[in-house]
Amino acid sequence: MATLYAFFKGNFVPLAEAKIGVLTHAFNYGTGVFEGIRAYWNQDEQQLYVFKLREHYARLHDSCHILRIGLRYSVDELCNITSEALRRSEVRSDMYIRPIAYKSGEVLGVRLHNVEDDLTVAITPMGKYVDADAARCKIATWRRMDDSVAPVRAKITGIYVNSALAKSEVVEDGYDEAILLNGDGHVSEGSGENLFIIRDGVLITPAVSENILEGITRDFVMQLAKDEVKMPVVERAIDRSELYIADECFMTGTAAEITPIGEIDRRKVGSGTVGPLTARLRVLFDAAVRGRNKKYISCCTPVWPK
Ligand code: PMP
Repeated sequence: MATLYAFFKGNFVPLAEAKIGVLTHAFNYGTGVFEGIRAYWNQDEQQLYVFKLREHYARLHDSCHILRIGLRYSVDELCNITSEALRRSEVRSDMYIRPIAYKSGEVLGVRLHNVEDDLTVAITPMGKYVDADAARCKIATWRRMDDSVAPVRAKITGIYVNSALAKSEVVEDGYDEAILLNGDGHVSEGSGENLFIIRDGVLITPAVSENILEGITRDFVMQLAKDEVKMPVVERAIDRSELYIADECFMTGTAAEITPIGEIDRRKVGSGTVGPLTARLRVLFDAAVRGRNKKYISCCTPVWPK
């Protein structure tokens, strides 16, 4: 494989050379915001398509605004930096992109103000995120952090200790993925995914006020459900026991894509395998992200010249 390049301190450098010092503020206090973006290789067109690139960088800007990180690059500049990193790395396969805007000052002191900021964009291969046909899930004992504790709609590095605690708890108990309840006891989301249930043909997902990350895949799946499957879509609070009696249940995320859920808390969900509507949404999703459905080609940024 060709050398992978990262954007680091204003330049493109081999990934192995993109290193930060141990006193870096973000390393000490979790004061960074990040994105996870997928690029998909389209073999027929010999093209690499980055899915929802602009939306990811718009969210990065929002996260920076919340965490008071001064991001010097516009959304357009960030998109260009990303495409350039992929071209320099000669990427002609599926790839994962990890931008982080972070407090880069090598100064101690817990605060947000008066600390230098910087940006890195790294790329790395990533296969399937949840390695199961129909995931076995468990409600974690750790609750999803509340917006009054730390702003969970910003994708803040430090907040991911919440997800890591939940994920390891359930994986080490033999499950595939964790589901977190929020402080009210309602369903919030997975450790790195938004959550959906289907009941009587209606697609239901926790509202943005349920301490979820406002997922880009979540938005797109709601659009596919409405426009292509003609399903009603409802954003509202979901109770834990509703999960058990749902007809179908799945998770969405850039890394997780659409991951069907077959079991929650040792109760089969629906048939216990991939439900029919989930399967349909997955087919639509896979065609769209790889640039095969031209109706959604505006969601896909081509990296190589046409
Ligand atoms: N929730 C959490 C906690 C996440 O980390 C992610 C992954 N970014 C998601 C939801 C899904 O968001 P997206 O579809 O934008 O990747």
